[in-house]
Formats: sequence, C-alpha cells, structure tokens
Amino acid sequence: FGTPYPWVFVDGAFVPAEEARLSVLANVVSYGTGTFDGIRAYWNAAHQELYLLEAAAHYERMRRSARILGLDLAVADPVPATVELLRRNGVRGDAYVRPLLFLAGEQLAVRMHDSGTRFCVAATPVPGDYIDPRGVRCMVSSWRRASDVAVPNRAKVIGSYVGPALAKSEALRNGFDEAILLTGDGYVAEATTSNILIRTGTEWATPPVTDDILEGITRRQIMDLLGERFGIVVTERRIQRSELYACDEALLCGTAAVVVPVVEVDGRPVGTGGPGETTVALQRGLQAIARREDHRHHEWTTPVYEE
Ligand code: PMP
Repeated sequence: FGTPYPWVFVDGAFVPAEEARLSVLANVVSYGTGTFDGIRAYWNAAHQELYLLEAAAHYERMRRSARILGLDLAVADPVPATVELLRRNGVRGDAYVRPLLFLAGEQLAVRMHDSGTRFCVAATPVPGDYIDPRGVRCMVSSWRRASDVAVPNRAKVIGSYVGPALAKSEALRNGFDEAILLTGDGYVAEATTSNILIRTGTEWATPPVTDDILEGITRRQIMDLLGERFGIVVTERRIQRSELYACDEALLCGTAAVVVPVVEVDGRPVGTGGPGETTVALQRGLQAIARREDHRHHEWTTPVYEE
C-alpha cells in the first residue's frame, strides 16, 4: 500500500494525519486492546467515480467486534464519515480504508475498559488491478489459529494478528507467498488475512465459522456469486489438511487480497498448477461489481462523489 492520505477521521473530526498522534504509552500499543477493519474503495475511471465495497457490512462487523470486546462504537453510522474522508483526500484511485477502535488512555493496565476509547479512520492508496495472475504458493504454517476460547475469533482484534504475522514471515522465509493456518486440532482454518475455499471434483467447500476463522465479507460474496452464476452451493464443513493436497482448485479471498488463486500447497500443485477457471471468473466478476462495471449487486457499493 502507498503513502497514507493526508486527512484522517478522529473521534468525529477530520484532522491532518500529522496531528493524529498517539502516545507510546497508549494502552493499545502495549496490549493490542482494540479492533479494526479494512474496507476497499474501487475507482472507475469511465464513471470518474469511487465506490466503497460493502462499507455497511464492514462497520456492522466492527460493531459486533466492539460488542465482543465490551467497547462502544459511538458513531451511529460511520459510512457517511468514511465517504467524506475519501472526498477530503480527493481520492481518485483504488484505496484501502482502515477504521480502528482502540484504548488510547495511558493507564498501563491489562484490561478492556476505562482507557479512553478512540475511533479513527485512515485511508491509503492501493495499486489498481493488483492481482498476480500466476496465483500464490502456500505452505501450511507451523503456527495455528488461536482458538475462540483464548481470543475472540469473531472480532477483528488488533493484538490477535501476531499469530498471522509470524505465519506470514515463516512462509516468506521458506520461499512461499502465503501461509495457511490450521485450527488447534488440525483442521484447515484460513490464510493470514483471507479465507479459503477449495473445490474437489464438483464440491466447493470452506471451513465453518466455528473453525476459528474470521467470518469474511468477501467469503460471503464469493459464496453468493458461486450460487448465482454457477448454481453452486458451497459446503461449510471441516476440511482436513490432506484435502488441500488433493483438491482440484483453491482460492483465497479477502478485502485486501480480493480473490487469489492458490496454485500450490506445500510443494504439491493444486489441480493443474495454474489458476482455476472458476477462480478467475470470480476474480473478474467481483471486481466488475465493485467498480459498477456490472449492473448486478449495486447494493454492495456506495458511490463517494455522487451527490
Ligand atoms: N481472515 C482474516 C484473519 C482476516 O484478517 C481477513 C481480512 N479482514 C479475512 C479473513 C477476510 O475477511 P474480509 O473478506 O471481510 O476482508
């Protein structure tokens, strides 16, 4: 991602990024006490318009994350503020929006309350149309997903990304592009910041939300599109590691990743070793919806500049 845009939204006001400062003693810095989300905005040059993809759904998830943590997302509807943030920054290109709700008080106490909750939204440019057509080579990580009994997996908790960060670095150091994490008891969960779907024969499957995944919004969009366009009902079921080695097609999906073909797992080619046909169709299909090049699912997108 590129240099962040100069204006950020902090507790109800738009301020220059250099004024949006956080103490090194802020509770979140030591303990990761907070939640965040990630929303993508897609630029359509022909329309000269920027579209936020499923902003309301992302804030709904953030509100649930906050509730799990016992924090209060005080803003009634953060979507208009997000639209205004992108306008103020004059964003004319693909962007990534990062809302954060965290404990900013300087009490160095390990607890989830009474420490000055702040809500901020920042945005950064993302290179347009970035999709590696060759797909990604994955390793099954030696790091596993934290169980929901330890860290609430339904919430996008700031501190809980240390595990995925370790897994990603391990994968890159070992010459892979991405890591796939298993649950504590050894079932496939997800990649570091994206969900996984696999096809074996005609069956498409994805781990259930009870297998310690983050319930991805892109995952839901992909399941919708598979149903609408291909008549495929995705099975949500436990997936074993060896199914990753035996499957015919696999994809990762998430707000940042969009849709990425998995072409190899632990040195075994997935299917023919190239991007799956359906995966490529989903990649294109979702982006076309996000940029409103496709007339379907306008309810997923919010125009930023339209009056
Ligand atoms: N899993 C994890 C751990 C993630 O961080 C993300 C990114 N938010 C996802 C899955 C994909 O979720 P979404 O499609 O909502 O971006």
